[in-house]
Amino acid sequence: MNFSKLTKQSIRSLRPYEAKKIPCGIKLDANECPYSISDGVFAEKNFIGALNRYPDPEIKELRKVVAKNFRVSPDNILVGNGSDELIYYLIITFGGPVIYPAPTFSMYEIISRSLGEECIGIPLDRNFDLDMKKMSAAVEKYRPRLIFLNSPNNPTGNCFSDDRILKTIEALDSRTKGIVVVDEAYQPFSGKKGFLPLLKDYKNLAVLRTLSKVGFAALRVGFLAADKELITEVNKVRLPFNLNALSQSIALETFRNKEILDSWVSIIRAERERLFKELNNLNGVRPCHSEANFIMFKVDTPDIVFQRLIKLDVLVRNLSSMIKGSLRVTVGTPEENNAFIKAIRTAMHSSDTL
Ligand SMILES: *Cc1c(COP(=O)(O)O)cnc(C)c1O
Repeated sequence: MNFSKLTKQSIRSLRPYEAKKIPCGIKLDANECPYSISDGVFAEKNFIGALNRYPDPEIKELRKVVAKNFRVSPDNILVGNGSDELIYYLIITFGGPVIYPAPTFSMYEIISRSLGEECIGIPLDRNFDLDMKKMSAAVEKYRPRLIFLNSPNNPTGNCFSDDRILKTIEALDSRTKGIVVVDEAYQPFSGKKGFLPLLKDYKNLAVLRTLSKVGFAALRVGFLAADKELITEVNKVRLPFNLNALSQSIALETFRNKEILDSWVSIIRAERERLFKELNNLNGVRPCHSEANFIMFKVDTPDIVFQRLIKLDVLVRNLSSMIKGSLRVTVGTPEENNAFIKAIRTAMHSSDTL
């Protein structure tokens, strides 16, 4: 039976999200943290508890700890099964038009389209910062309900300038009462404070954070911080037990052991600077400055370099279909980064045609 005839028009042309697994010894393609809690660290804890009972539907304990950490109240926090789920909930709740810069994280578009909401990508300027002329024109033209700003931006790695983000928040508030969601998935790796401290000044600002890029991608835990009334609205569409018991209790433990996470982040930041210098010194490689845990770089023959790296057992992300000539490498452990540097040197200077 051809079920696609039964499928809603807005879904029919979509393709499922592909997170292809290319087997490679050194995996630097998905912006994951190379470190994970060793078995010993949380060992004495009994995470599992009673598996016959539903988990806490209000995720109370975790919200309390997160709120303290973010210096807001628990009423300002919604927890999601990854921040992807929270992006879903935001778009279900407020609808489109949805605006985001281009290039950026792909889920804003994918989720908008799967919900049948109008969505528009606004090109960034030549420094990959927000193009305020284009942004204001888009606000005037589309009157968006939601604008997603991912800063530091995936895949370019830079932060957007604070004053341009603020101008966007103010423009949206005065024109459409729309919401600006600053997605800070990579904020821990940047030198900037981020937008949590500004939540009290801007009612139409919401901030997304996640545990995925700091060592807990497998847990699927993300946070939305925003005005209490905004949280109340989004909470109406949240599934009752969206965060399982295991994720709730391990996430709690991560905040109690925050110094471990912080130490991973400082190693990765230092390694990022080293990796940038190494890439910058390589003929034919042009890296972009990054405030995240990855570096985007340009080469003349991205597809060939990408394939050669795989042959050398190093997996990076090939972005060249989206951004001409671009690849993206996640910062790994010092050993992984050394292996990557060695491999890219070989890949750039090799003359085999594969
Ligand atoms: C990785 C990523 C996310 C996804 O976070 P999860 O919490 O794993 O769902 C959200 N936003 C951006 C920009 C990301 O790069």
